[in-house]
Amino acid sequence: MDDRQFRNAMGKFATGVTVIATEVAGEEVHGMTANGFMSVSLTPKLVVISIGEKAKILPKIKESNNFTVNILAANQQELSMIFAGQLKEHKEVIFDRLDGKPVIPGAIAQIACEVSAEHVEGDHTLFIGKVTDIHLEDAEPLVFYSGRYRSLKEDQPVTV
Ligand code: FAD
Repeated sequence: MDDRQFRNAMGKFATGVTVIATEVAGEEVHGMTANGFMSVSLTPKLVVISIGEKAKILPKIKESNNFTVNILAANQQELSMIFAGQLKEHKEVIFDRLDGKPVIPGAIAQIACEVSAEHVEGDHTLFIGKVTDIHLEDAEPLVFYSGRYRSLKEDQPVTV
């Protein structure tokens, strides 16, 4: 099995798109696009994110010990591209605050977390986040599938 086949297989799992954000005291807020995110536990309320070993945000989360997960709306594809380094020009992004942590305005879910554990697995670090606050907006999600951005609206209704 080669890397391409593994990537293609993982890309068959349709996901939402998040921007993970964190802030080290005295530095600019740093964001990164990620779909390696899932819910872990209800009691206590825990989530997990998966951050590549080369990502600049990795040492920042270790230092700040907190992060936010911002689930993007269908009209926020440009933000996903900004925080994935897919745009050539630098665009300024204004952050709101939730529980004192930086969050993306207009995200359909803003989830503030304190790091409760971290596990290095292969070339990624899994951060378990204890959820400290949540803010929700009623809008359609941005979807990522097979390496492309999608929206729920373009899909056909499911027939049973
Ligand atoms: P950088 O390369 O420094 O930052 C990424 C970009 O964000 C840069 O262009 C930077 O200018 C911009 N940026 C950062 N902060 C700000 C700010 N305050 N204002 C304006 N711009 C800012 N990688 C993973 O590790 N885990 C995943 O789960 C994951 N999922 C992904 C899902 C999708 C759909 C995509 C497209 C990419 C995913 N990636 C994932 C890859 C990851 O987004 C990129 O490799 C990213 O560029 C690495 O970010 P970095 O922390 O090294 O930061």
